[in-house]
Amino acid sequence: TTADPRKSLAAKFEQTIAERRNSSMSSKLRLEGKVALVTGAASGIGEEAVRLFAENGASIVVADVQDELGHQVIASIGSEKVSYHHCDVRDEKQVEETVNYTLEKYGNLDILFSNAGIIGTLTGILELDLDGFDNTMATNVRGVAATIKHAARAMVARKIRGSIICTTSVAASLGGTGPHAYTISKHALVGLVRTACSELGVYGIRVNCISPFGVATPLSCRAYNLEPNEVEANSCALSNLKDIVLKARHIAEAALFLASDESAYISGHNLAVDGGFTVVNHSFSAT
Ligand code: NAD
Repeated sequence: TTADPRKSLAAKFEQTIAERRNSSMSSKLRLEGKVALVTGAASGIGEEAVRLFAENGASIVVADVQDELGHQVIASIGSEKVSYHHCDVRDEKQVEETVNYTLEKYGNLDILFSNAGIIGTLTGILELDLDGFDNTMATNVRGVAATIKHAARAMVARKIRGSIICTTSVAASLGGTGPHAYTISKHALVGLVRTACSELGVYGIRVNCISPFGVATPLSCRAYNLEPNEVEANSCALSNLKDIVLKARHIAEAALFLASDESAYISGHNLAVDGGFTVVNHSFSAT
């Protein structure tokens, strides 16, 4: 008896769909086999990124100065693949130790999400507190530079085509959206990303940053002495993109994209997660 060609075609179709389904299921684990170091990971955007990276199969070192919170984050995930390590990014030795800890614990370092940052005090330029200025710079610029230095050293030495991601802000593109030192520090980070990108491309290492609009985290709540729902209401009132509330998860999704192979040819980019806020005119309506 001859086989019915329609039946074999149908079987082939079923097999193709099953293969696609399987491959789309496995592609959900977008960081399978990868090792990530996330700074500022005990809270806010960093914490959300840790959860999303873990859901996507990565091994992660959660680095922060808030030890208790950091331990709570890893306990709530409850996986051997997620560990906490104390790291004050202002101290280069601690940064180096944290990179070494990551290599010893998980044998590799594919992703650095250098996200730790502070907003500093809200004072005018006429009353600029220069000690506060130095602390913002030491955390937001020097600290990120130290993490890039030591993570990139490890990647270069091990020939890892890694991904480095920093958290900047809409304050990296616009004046008047945050404290002076904060705005200066976030502008500097864009320069840091570009200059690191220019040197590390030859090793296959990508360097990018993410610029979020206002999102309710302990940082933004403390800075403006507001509850999370009040921060969100303010952001929504000022936003360009309406009928959506920006959440830390949206920033984490952008970090996941830049960490994964889906962004394999993207380097030196500042990915704004701001609903268009930094590219539109807020002063007057031209239409
Ligand atoms: P957050 O306060 O919830 O998280 C920041 C984390 O960084 C905290 O856990 C803190 O302990 C840690 N940290 C601070 N100083 C550190 C240091 N010296 N060493 C190591 N860790 C340190 O705030 P967040 O909003 O999640 O901030 C994360 C990043 O996002 C920051 O770089 C911030 O500038 C940036 N950002 C936030 C917003 C926003 O609206 N929340 C907007 C744009 C950019």
